[in-house]
Amino acid sequence: MCGQAQLADMLDELTATCEDCDRELRERDRMLVYRTAEGERRAYECACGAVTITVHR
Ligand SMILES: [Zn+2]
Repeated sequence: MCGQAQLADMLDELTATCEDCDRELRERDRMLVYRTAEGERRAYECACGAVTITVHR
């Protein structure tokens, strides 16, 4: 595995924000993690009620 890809993944995680209100999403907002062929998907529920799904390859 490439170290640079891992770093990009970490940065991705740090900048996850709500699609609705731009609030920063944290681990405690994470409701669900599941894997698909495209990568790991994480569903976050924001305090505003919106659900944002991120994909991590
Ligand atoms: Zn929000």
